[in-house]
Amino acid sequence: MATRGALKGLDPDSAQRAGVGALIVNAYHLHLQPGGDAVARAGGLHGYMGWQGVLATDSGGFQIFSFQHGHVADEVKGRRHQRPPEDDLLVAAVKVDEDGADFRSYLDGSRQRFTPESSMQLQRSLGADLLMCLDECTPFHVPAAYTRAATERNVRWARRCFDEFERLEMGATQSLYGINHGGVYPELRSLSAAAISGLPFEGMAIGDCLGQTKQDWYQVVDQVVPLLPEERPRHLLGVGEPDDLVEGALRGIDSFDCAMPTRVARHGHALHRGQPRFRLDLTQARMAGDDGPLEEGCDCHTCARYSRAYLWHLFKAHELLGITLTAEHNLRFSARLLEQVREAISAGRLRELRNQLLSRSAETG
Ligand SMILES: [Zn+2]
Repeated sequence: MATRGALKGLDPDSAQRAGVGALIVNAYHLHLQPGGDAVARAGGLHGYMGWQGVLATDSGGFQIFSFQHGHVADEVKGRRHQRPPEDDLLVAAVKVDEDGADFRSYLDGSRQRFTPESSMQLQRSLGADLLMCLDECTPFHVPAAYTRAATERNVRWARRCFDEFERLEMGATQSLYGINHGGVYPELRSLSAAAISGLPFEGMAIGDCLGQTKQDWYQVVDQVVPLLPEERPRHLLGVGEPDDLVEGALRGIDSFDCAMPTRVARHGHALHRGQPRFRLDLTQARMAGDDGPLEEGCDCHTCARYSRAYLWHLFKAHELLGITLTAEHNLRFSARLLEQVREAISAGRLRELRNQLLSRSAETG
């Protein structure tokens, strides 16, 4: 997750070295600053950011609409399996109509408007490889009738996105993903899945509110995946804790995006298999005398060269290098886990990997 066109605390070469294959950038943030024209002038996002791997743009629907229903902080608990509340910023209310959505820039208060067509024009010009339809994300607490109206409108917006994407033929290398909606309502999820599966999107994303617990999102994904075309890739938006990657793969998910690895690094947490919630707190006093690597057996640049004791010192001294080194380890942790998921799928051992992962984290939990 490189929300504003940058990984937080890490350059693209380090991410590549950690085995990250794809980044997702938020078109909404780049629209407000520096603007689509500035990116297009640089020849597109790949050149602008210095990232040679796969690049996706999310429309920003989540960020825009999360403000419509109150400050996003109100929803943090209910959204912890949604896209993370990275953009905890106050903006004026959003007004949605059939044609699009009006909102105010959180940077200068200026009036802005997104429609499915303008979102496609923006994302096409940003030049990423994978584009996402503009969608309204409904939070958990809104009435079911609201989620229904939004789901039906999202289907109509998906058709308009597809038409505009096709009209703006800008090279064969860009692909458009449709997004499944419907909150925690099986009937709405089915309606949305049938509609987007009927359009020739290159891939399918599962988005919108996925409920409040892990069991909630498991249920949504269990229901939706069999309704999506088998031959097209499936992406789960905003979910990416270590156990989520394995649970998602078990349910037929092919790709994930998540800001967690770099976010927890900023709080001094290194991902670790044998720790509660997979997090090793490098700021704890006991780290000061620990000369071991962040995680035994990790092949990342940080673990090869630096000790827990040094990282403890960096965080204690507020040295930015602590965040950078921990972020690289965390990205490598997720990339390695996904490598193991792929191997386990080939060997028919994915359930075994899941059980191993959960039992190791629980042992010390
Ligand atoms: Zn490491």
